[in-house]
Amino acid sequence: MSHYEPVIGLEVHCQLKTRTKIFSSDPYLYGAAANTQAGPVTLGLPGALPVLNEEVMEMALTAALALECEINRHTRFDRKHYFYPDLPKGYQISQYDRPYATGGKISFRKKDADKDTTIRIHRIHMEEDAGKLLHGQGGGEAVSFVDLNRAGVPLLEIVSEPDLRSSEDAYYYLQTLRSILRAVEVTDGNMEMGSLRCDANVSVRKGPDAPFGTRVEIKNLNSFKAVRAAIDYQIEEQIALIESGQKIVQSTVLWDADKRETRLMRTKENAEDYRYFPDPDLPEFVIEEDLIEKVKKEMPE
Ligand code: ADP
Ligand code: MG
Repeated sequence: MSHYEPVIGLEVHCQLKTRTKIFSSDPYLYGAAANTQAGPVTLGLPGALPVLNEEVMEMALTAALALECEINRHTRFDRKHYFYPDLPKGYQISQYDRPYATGGKISFRKKDADKDTTIRIHRIHMEEDAGKLLHGQGGGEAVSFVDLNRAGVPLLEIVSEPDLRSSEDAYYYLQTLRSILRAVEVTDGNMEMGSLRCDANVSVRKGPDAPFGTRVEIKNLNSFKAVRAAIDYQIEEQIALIESGQKIVQSTVLWDADKRETRLMRTKENAEDYRYFPDPDLPEFVIEEDLIEKVKKEMPE
């Protein structure tokens, strides 16, 4: 059997611990009664307009500077369209081609290693979280409920370059990322409570000089254990498929922690499918140099 090298890139969603949501004055407290923290902007009611929370911008800058990113001062928000019952507006406000931060890196020293491993960060953007669906029973039938408290909670999406080479790398990267974000006090980084969530993109190739293989994206890993197990499962599955002469199909899968396997969710959607366009309610803006300086000064070591 030829030797395969795994190639992994992580997309991490981090909830910012601001007092209020990203585009409204709704508070967000984990565990509050369902739908008690969802005002007109969160519900997407006609005429309700989003306004960027300044505390979000400051925390986002803090995180980007701590991760040694470049700040793109000319930035904007875009609408990402899809239908799901936890997304009342029918689109998520996110950033597409003008993320506020690019570049950056995270370094860590693995146990027994004599030098650091450095993983490059591709980009960071700000976006709003969606609500939550709860599936249960009602009157003997399967019913679903929606809780929109989490809708509009500020997230950073931190996207790495495909520089990771093992599930162990992914584990160290996440641990280091979390401790940096906690040290600068922008998140509580609690994976069980969902304030840190990770999608892992995994492919394999025949050695370090071969071109990248087709990747599979594993969605919403909510513990360090799940991240390691799901990546290892995918690596083995992909090698087995290739060895038996099959091709990897670009797809999105979910990790089933009980069965310890990944399950197909959808074959890959493309950016075009989301019909991104600049959000007309949130015009392009310039991040003031003064604000960047202020954040630098106030940042913990
Ligand atoms: P998308 O927006 O469709 O999810 P991106 O190009 O933004 O795609 O990549 C998402 C993540 O996938 C990044 O973290 C990137 O490093 C990683 N990635 C890209 N190509 C590969 C590959 N061939 N194998 C593993 N990871 C990859
Ligand atoms: Mg993605």
